[in-house]
Amino acid sequence: MMQESKIIVENSGALNVPDCPVIPFIEGDGIGPDIWAATVRVLDASIEQAYTGTKKISWLEVFAGEKGFEKSGSWLPDETLNKIREHVAAIKGPLTTPVGKGFRSLNVTIRQKLDLYACVRPIRYIEGVPSPMKHPEKINMVVFRENTEDVYAGIEWAKGTREAERLIAFLESEMKIAISQDSGIGIKPISETASKRLVASAIRHAIDHGLGSVTLMHKGNIMKFTEGAFKEWGYETAEELFGDQTVTEAALWVKYDGVCPEGKVVIKDRIADMMFQQVLLRPEEYQVIATPNLNGDYISDALAAQAGGLGLAPGANIGDRCAVFEATHGTAPKYAGQDKVNPGSLILSGAMMLDFIGWQKAAEKIRKAVQKTICDRVVTYDLARQLEGARKVKCSEFATALIERL
Ligand code: NAP
Repeated sequence: MMQESKIIVENSGALNVPDCPVIPFIEGDGIGPDIWAATVRVLDASIEQAYTGTKKISWLEVFAGEKGFEKSGSWLPDETLNKIREHVAAIKGPLTTPVGKGFRSLNVTIRQKLDLYACVRPIRYIEGVPSPMKHPEKINMVVFRENTEDVYAGIEWAKGTREAERLIAFLESEMKIAISQDSGIGIKPISETASKRLVASAIRHAIDHGLGSVTLMHKGNIMKFTEGAFKEWGYETAEELFGDQTVTEAALWVKYDGVCPEGKVVIKDRIADMMFQQVLLRPEEYQVIATPNLNGDYISDALAAQAGGLGLAPGANIGDRCAVFEATHGTAPKYAGQDKVNPGSLILSGAMMLDFIGWQKAAEKIRKAVQKTICDRVVTYDLARQLEGARKVKCSEFATALIERL
């Protein structure tokens, strides 16, 4: 029996990962139990095969969402957040956001409480997946979405509340700005600190993975002091922290005749609306996208659709002290308990988690097996309806087919 123990974050920020780390998981609501059951089998099998029994994850269930409420009367118990903090890496299925006034999204709350400031979503085309693009194979990007502020910070007041009225009165009397009395008000904070740490993690990722460019996606032509500032702080970060390893797009033409010197990352920026055209028309020109919260939400779903849909799009929320890996789709309640949906998104998020803890060999096995299973046209209902000659399988059967191809 292997001795289970905790992952430790060293002072340098590096992870010290034992052979049998304890990793908390949240099963999730709706389709969560189905996709988690499939995922855990694939993760365990890939680790077993990659390391022939010398490494293993000791899974620790923690509760949130409906199961959290049933067990403790809380949708997001403090104990769950503490366990994730304590064990550094965790994985979760989708969670229902309880409907009703006063409830914030549990997912947004988890990201904010644990300061998981970078939402990282790699979007890479998997051969064989039906896509609306003519050349989906050109899509190979990683979106770094700022996760803690922007209009997602939840600072807003409904029309007619005392707070909204006070704010409207303040803006009118102190700032001479007229706002219609029947307005709801939301605040968009974008700070230098949060922007710089997000862009730094995106550039670090590009350097570590030999990727050619980081694009700052923003709407700074209109929102100058929030999105425009994000762009400026992004360029400053590149110069201050990675001056030797980066070159701006402008300098590329002035100094290097448009040809990037070997080993450098090009830093460029694009206005958000134009970026949606760019990723459709010239996806091969973009490798890493760093962007504020709302833009990041939109662009990562759009890219996932271009590459074949949310059913296969993985995601991670990463901070300096811990990380939570999760499927990018929701709880799809109409399919709950039917053993029907595609577990690919959570499985590939699990592979990202294995990368994160340094178990790349197992992660790579999973990615190759997903590719092979789909190329063999063994797919769940969502892909079967678009793939001619497909063998439609259940969620659990897809996991079995994948394990056979590890
Ligand atoms: P959703 O759960 O993502 O489902 C929307 C549709 O996407 C499904 O009806 C299905 O489409 C497709 N889909 C989603 N997951 C799939 C999978 N694994 N395999 C195949 N197809 C899949 O979005 P929603 O209905 O808007 O949200 C439902 C609940 O989820 C809400 O309570 C929301 O708050 C929550 N949510 C949670 C998270 C999270 O935990 N991170 C994220 C988003 C939403 P077809 O019916 O066309 O097959």
